[in-house]
Amino acid sequence: MVITIDGAAGVGKTSTAKEVAKKLGFQYFDTGSMYRAVTLYFLEKNVDFSSMSEVDKALNIMKLKIDFSEKNNMKLLLDGNDISLKIRNQNVTKNVSAVSAIKSVRTLMVGIQRSVTQNGNFVVEGRDIGTVVFPDAKHKFFLEADYDARAKRRMADFMKINEVININEIKEDLIERDKYDSGRKLSPLKKPMNAVIINTSNCSFEEQVDQILKNIES
Ligand code: C5P
Repeated sequence: MVITIDGAAGVGKTSTAKEVAKKLGFQYFDTGSMYRAVTLYFLEKNVDFSSMSEVDKALNIMKLKIDFSEKNNMKLLLDGNDISLKIRNQNVTKNVSAVSAIKSVRTLMVGIQRSVTQNGNFVVEGRDIGTVVFPDAKHKFFLEADYDARAKRRMADFMKINEVININEIKEDLIERDKYDSGRKLSPLKKPMNAVIINTSNCSFEEQVDQILKNIES
């Protein structure tokens, strides 16, 4: 079974999805990290994103592995190396929206997302999970929050990896990424049909997790 949690950057998807998965004994699956991994690969290998032949060649060579062996954690290995922290840096964050708008990148990622979740129970978070990847999922959630709350959350994420960044810069990046992610032709960020909307701006973490669990139970 798959439970989908979609929403923009900084709305609290990751922490919420992790906790919901833990409480239900499901596996947590962060699809944004896959798009970040591809972005990191392209940046490290100097792949020109505007050239589809270069992109396709790189995707064929790239070896991306998802490791679900740790309960309630997901590790990404790129050519055998754990890149779980590296994919959070600012350069990857700045470029990921452009990479995730490329058709062959999405086709490959969605295929992997569907195949790895075939056997088992997963809480899957992303942008198009309830709309495109698993449109028939029984439990779909869409998280929203205002820009101040989202920027504060992102700031805390950057501090964890020792990157110092101005809160206004974070807000501008969020606005820019929203524009890109919601405006793109392929699988834009939008509320899935039948999804339950949860606004996390003024909600405690426990409250947002609770709302999701109660909804699933009922
Ligand atoms: O969730 P996170 O901020 O790590 O996602 C990084 C980027 O990956 C998003 O800004 C979006 O461009 C892309 N993404 C996507 N589809 C998903 C998950 C993430 O296009 N399912």
